[in-house]
Amino acid sequence: MIIHLPKNISHAYAQEFAEGIGALCLEQPEYFVLITNHTVKQLPESIASFALNHWVFNSDMQLSSRAYHADTYRVEVADTYIGGDQKNQLMIAGPCAIESREQIEQSCQMLKEQGIRVLRAGCYKPRTSPYTFRGLGEDGLKLLAEMREKYGLLIATEMRDATHADKVVEYADIVQVGAKAMYDHGLLTAAGQSGKPVILKRGFGSTLQELVNCADFIMSCGNNQVILCERGIRSFETNTRFTLDLCGVAWLKQHCNLPVILDPSHAMGYAYGIADLARACTAMGIDGLLIETHPQPNLAQSDAPQQLDHKQFAEMYASLQPIAQAVGKRLV
Ligand code: PEP
Ligand code: MN
Repeated sequence: MIIHLPKNISHAYAQEFAEGIGALCLEQPEYFVLITNHTVKQLPESIASFALNHWVFNSDMQLSSRAYHADTYRVEVADTYIGGDQKNQLMIAGPCAIESREQIEQSCQMLKEQGIRVLRAGCYKPRTSPYTFRGLGEDGLKLLAEMREKYGLLIATEMRDATHADKVVEYADIVQVGAKAMYDHGLLTAAGQSGKPVILKRGFGSTLQELVNCADFIMSCGNNQVILCERGIRSFETNTRFTLDLCGVAWLKQHCNLPVILDPSHAMGYAYGIADLARACTAMGIDGLLIETHPQPNLAQSDAPQQLDHKQFAEMYASLQPIAQAVGKRLV
């Protein structure tokens, strides 16, 4: 249950009420928000005469539910936004990982030429094998910060674990929680307390309910600047890396109040399928796309097979424009 209490009671009083019913208490400008788990169906008597409003739920998808907040939250990304009136489709692009100054400069130059505002590049890579490149770490973050200054791009980069969460929060404009880290409560809390927009990627073995519960973890820290990312789930199919769950995206759009972006790169796993998938995603009227692109994909130190080269990226991007327009979206 979510309960709104008026601001004319003190914070201490609201907190006391919350503790009395085993609820979390968030302070918002207009009211206090108390959140219990969803098994509470009756407004507790101790609170009934104070409560401004209350909502009952069937699951612990509460703060992220449209049953609570009917409109999609507007997530501010520098001078633009996604969600809100739902007109914008944000392009987030760049290499899987930052590997060198030369590589990231080439990536930034291409993004600038294409008019793209958000550079993605990992510095702490969650790898399947311990014997492969794990990222440049803080040196990578510093280079990304230099690129932000030089090219005026925003930086989206991921937290792999709690050892560097504070560093990522310090440097990133958008904090990414990766698929393998979706359940890491330390990271969800760090993201929730970061005060920055968060891309929460769906674990590839996770249900939609588990994804939205993780979004509620972030939001229950007071941060509703959360962007959900569908990046492919594991199915019985092995010819493609994962299976992009477009049905799941339709479900999220219907039931969840957070913007939804898609990552066809990690879903497909091979460059040849990415442009078709990006067009299919765009036709769904989504809030953003995350695409991996590398100046020389064959030399990439992670996710080489799925990264578009710059020419492929430019062709793919140009082909999205008429589709976005047809579904009433603006590419930003
Ligand atoms: C990535 O974005 O490079 C990444 C590691 O993605 P995911 O967490 O979806 O595997
Ligand atoms: Mn990758």
